[in-house]
Amino acid sequence: MSNRSPLKSQHRAFLYRSLSSYLRGVFGRALRKVPVDPGFGCPNRDGTIGTTGCSFCDLDSFVPTYARSGKGPADQIMDAFSGKSAQPFIVYLQAGAGTYASPDAFRQVVESVFRIPGSIGLFIGTRPDCVDESVLDVLNPYLGRKLLWLELGLQSSSDLTLDRIGRGHDVEAFIRARSLAMERRIPICAHIILGLPGEGKGEMVSTARFLSEHKVEGVKIHHLQIIKGTRIEEEYHLGRVKPLDHNVYPALVSEFLKHLPPTTVIHRLLSDAPDEMLTAPKWPQRSRVIQSIRDHMTREGSFQGKKWRERL
Ligand code: SF4
Repeated sequence: MSNRSPLKSQHRAFLYRSLSSYLRGVFGRALRKVPVDPGFGCPNRDGTIGTTGCSFCDLDSFVPTYARSGKGPADQIMDAFSGKSAQPFIVYLQAGAGTYASPDAFRQVVESVFRIPGSIGLFIGTRPDCVDESVLDVLNPYLGRKLLWLELGLQSSSDLTLDRIGRGHDVEAFIRARSLAMERRIPICAHIILGLPGEGKGEMVSTARFLSEHKVEGVKIHHLQIIKGTRIEEEYHLGRVKPLDHNVYPALVSEFLKHLPPTTVIHRLLSDAPDEMLTAPKWPQRSRVIQSIRDHMTREGSFQGKKWRERL
């Protein structure tokens, strides 16, 4: 892996540092990210922390069909590639909490995905309160040999909001997990949601500034989607939650990005739950929304880090 910075080659056109440009900088090529379900479940659903989960969550909206088979992660990957030999790819432990397991069970999953030819990286989606020394020890043999990222669900830097959406952990839990990962030099991608109940632009910008202060290496931005059958759908039907309009989203994302350092890797700009699972909001195609964000940023001369620089 080289440490070339893709920022250099993109200097003039830089709006934000996308995951694809980061991966091209590291590997010299685009890579497929293959989501799999490690089958560990979630403590916010199995009764350890809660039984109803986060108010916005439907686990099935996170994973593709092949990952819902109940097979182990390695078999899910083979199904994703229809049994053919794969180009280099990255495995993404998604659905539930990807480190919510004993160290032995977690090790088995990690070893099984890295035994597959072409598997050159592992991104692990998990909850901040499911990260401790014992699971990070499992990753030690791969540090520097494989591309490893921890994707931590934060959603908001406000404890009030986290409580309202039933996360079952506080912001402090994120800070602790971030610090443990930093000691091992494992990069963190924070998952956040724009448009959560009770939050306006000020709260969302505060989250961006929080991520900047804690020097997270990556951010995955979602817009709040109301998924059928979730608790937040009930709030939506009662008029207590109003999803964002796609026309205001480009300005909001642009503002958010301005407060992040230009080096932060932007893994995603919006959510994309399958249409049949979605109650609201019904937005144009993902590619059109991304283009609207880019157009907005270009028009207003905005770029990732614009306001972060002003604070230096
Ligand atoms: S969003 Fe994540 S932490 Fe929350 S219930 Fe779903 S799987 Fe668990």
